[in-house]
Amino acid sequence: MLELTDVEAWRSFASEQRSKGRRIGLVPTMGALHEGHVSLFRAAKGTSDVVIATIFVNPRQFHDTGDLERYPRTPERDRDLALACGVACLVSPTLDAMWPDYPAPTPTTVTLGALGEVFEGADRPGHFDGVASVVAKLFVITGPCRAYFGEKDFQQLAVIRQMVRDLSFDVDVVGQPIVRDDDGLALSSRNVLLSPEGRRQALGFSRALRHVAEASRSADAQRATLRSVLEDAGVDVAYVEVVDSSTLVPSRDDETGERRALVAGFVEGIRLIDNGPVEVVGR
Ligand code: AMP
Repeated sequence: MLELTDVEAWRSFASEQRSKGRRIGLVPTMGALHEGHVSLFRAAKGTSDVVIATIFVNPRQFHDTGDLERYPRTPERDRDLALACGVACLVSPTLDAMWPDYPAPTPTTVTLGALGEVFEGADRPGHFDGVASVVAKLFVITGPCRAYFGEKDFQQLAVIRQMVRDLSFDVDVVGQPIVRDDDGLALSSRNVLLSPEGRRQALGFSRALRHVAEASRSADAQRATLRSVLEDAGVDVAYVEVVDSSTLVPSRDDETGERRALVAGFVEGIRLIDNGPVEVVGR
């Protein structure tokens, strides 16, 4: 496995692979890798010819500096896991390589409009502009590729799809299902920050999503159920929503069909998100 920190070496590796007719699978991450990331590596390995994984804890997408400082970092373990998954090139660019102006703002950024300002974007102003701007750089440096993202970050996936369409990136975006622990908790790098009691509370997320997935009801009834299960579990709820899966527009109560439930909240001060499919039946 080739390990790079330099942007030009990464750009050359990608273009050399393409010149040999190989299709590149790109897996962007922030490290502290777990089975959720592994599922993306496997998908990339299965449907592309050569896998490039990136690890970059992007400060421009953190609204809160405490959250950035606390973000787990496990570089040696990440390296071993990437190697074991058949990643051909692991890129860990330096902050200076990605954002030479940091901490000053970069004059040129990607903005996303409404989709970037709701849900996660409403609670974390600037978050998705930071995500989209860094992912745009990853796409430009890597060049034409397939890029793999998890449905765990459902709004992020929608944001990236919008950006790719609006800015005509030569990138096929591939979404992958959420990987959960046996107890139902969606895997997240942040889970290691939870105490055993916090972890028990965090199970409220998957429990709430299971409850609404099992019973087809109106969108408003789904929202009320999500909130009450989360509150009963002790989660400090940030938002619960039932939305159209592609536009993320909140479903009206008289609409029916396949929708997505999005939930977010704090456990022990750690922000967690989850989502799942729901079927809405009009009132
Ligand atoms: P992160 O390192 O948290 O920025 O995540 C990198 C990629 O892994 C993103 O596309 C995430 O959506 C995806 N990911 C994180 N957790 C999971 C999970 N539990 N299941 C599937 N994909 C995930």
